[in-house]
Amino acid sequence: MNDCIFCRIVKGELPCTKVYEDDAVLAFMDIGPIIKGHVLVIPKAHYATLPEVPAELAARVMVVVQKVATALMSALSADGVNVHQSNGACAGQVVPHVHFHVIPRFNDDGHRWNWAAVKYENPAEMAALGQRVRTALTP
Ligand code: 5GP
Ligand code: ZN
Repeated sequence: MNDCIFCRIVKGELPCTKVYEDDAVLAFMDIGPIIKGHVLVIPKAHYATLPEVPAELAARVMVVVQKVATALMSALSADGVNVHQSNGACAGQVVPHVHFHVIPRFNDDGHRWNWAAVKYENPAEMAALGQRVRTALTP
């Protein structure tokens, strides 16, 4: 993917502040942090969204997400960490190369997510949606 900004970072064509790298995974500082210390974790191979990533690679990426979360807590003395991941423009994904945001949180950081919960019409509505998802997950 020649025009993918994260592929260009992987290839070294664009600079980044790298914090972790192995043969399959790269982690680097986000240039537009939600909270200072915000890290992005990506597979080096180009996949647009999480469902497209082979399971073994997804597992390797998640291990690095865990390592970065642990490092943010120890190195930056974060009080907590958010892991955020978006798939598709409707979900707020801007860069179409799958990535995990690992964001340090501090008791006094003042950030609030706009997490506006809605209600199901009734329990049957939730059960019906759950049934559809369960069916899709059944091997
Ligand atoms: P998304 O909205 O797609 O989930 O997140 C994309 C993220 O990539 C944003 O947080 C944005 O700040 C970050 N980003 C975009 N371009 C660059 C770049 O060239 N370098 C780095 N380090 N981060 C970038
Ligand atoms: Zn890419």
